Formats: sequence, C-alpha cells, structure tokens
Amino acid sequence: MEIEEVYSSRQLDKVEGKAINELIARSQQVIPDPDRWLDEEIERNILLTSVDAVLNWARRTSLWPVVCFPACCAFEFITTEASRFDLSRFGMEIVRASPRQADLMITAGTLTWKMAPQVKRIYDQMAEPKWVIAMGACAISGGIFASSYSVVPGYNRIIPVDVYLPGCPPRPEALIHGIRMLHKKIARESIAEGE
Ligand code: SF4
Repeated sequence: MEIEEVYSSRQLDKVEGKAINELIARSQQVIPDPDRWLDEEIERNILLTSVDAVLNWARRTSLWPVVCFPACCAFEFITTEASRFDLSRFGMEIVRASPRQADLMITAGTLTWKMAPQVKRIYDQMAEPKWVIAMGACAISGGIFASSYSVVPGYNRIIPVDVYLPGCPPRPEALIHGIRMLHKKIARESIAEGE
C-alpha cells in the first residue's frame, strides 16, 4: 500500500516559495534577440564607403589605353602588354584603336610637329576623364632630338601630361611603375572638385 506524502502548511509554503523564486529568476534573464542574425548579416554584407572611392577604384582598375606610339619606345610598351609583364593584371590589356573608347594615352615615342595636330585631335576625342603618361625622354622633352626643328620638345607642349616616365627607352618595369603612379593619382581625385 502506497503512503501519500503529506506536507505540513509550513512545508507547503517553502515548496511554493521555491517555485515562485525560480519563476522570478527566470523572468529576469535576458530574452535572446530573435533578429540578432540580421545584425550579423548586415555586418558581413554591407560596406560603407564614399562615391569617390568607388568611382576612382573602378576607373583606375579599368584604364583603356589608346594607340599613340610614333617611335621606338613603342616596343617597350608592346613588351609590357605581352604575357611576361601581363598588363591585364591591371584591367588594361585592351588597347583601343578608337580614342572615343579610351581614357589613357601612353605617348611612347618622338613626336614631330607634323604629327602634333593628329595627336592633339586624338587626345581631344578621348572620353573624359582622361590621363596621359609621357613615356621616355622623347615624350618628356624631345630627348636626343630636342634641338631638331621638326621635333616637339615634349608632349606637354600640346596636351596635359599626368605622369612623366624617364628613360631611353624606359623598361617595362618602369612603365608599370608609371601606371601604378597614375593609379595613385586617380585614387586622390574627387568628383566634387570637378575632373
Ligand atoms: S626615348 Fe629613346 S627609345 Fe624612346 S622614342 Fe626616344 S629615342 Fe626612342
């Protein structure tokens, strides 16, 4: 025969009190936020930056050069384009035949006054914003032909130049260094200040 446990009224108070205290303690625990996963997703997927930073990043990693290689420095550019130096790492392997599809002129070679109007026209037809790298001594100052009546003593006499690359001719490593310098210059530009 089972014997029922009989509590005294004092024992009942104790049991009830214990149960109530447990409920109170549980009610004071912090309720987990059901939307906490959302915070984690936002932290993982949203990146805050400026319009300038995005625009400049896109521009400097997709420069498209236009053909302007009137003399021997051109061969160093051609070597830079080839697989050993691999300009496609910088998103600029496509050399455009049309200035309207280009935003970078790499002036690789001696420029004569007879050719100057054509180079100026090519520059004027390029898309904005646009940049110019003067590659080699001839492009910077006319080089060894500077005193000639027929040679332009530097491309900056007819168009604005952003980067000057010394050498006769500059090696592909030097051209890549010049391109990296131009990247840094583009990274500092701001649409608020105009282009
Ligand atoms: S800098 Fe030297 S290699 Fe370049 S175009 Fe002038 S002469 Fe030729």
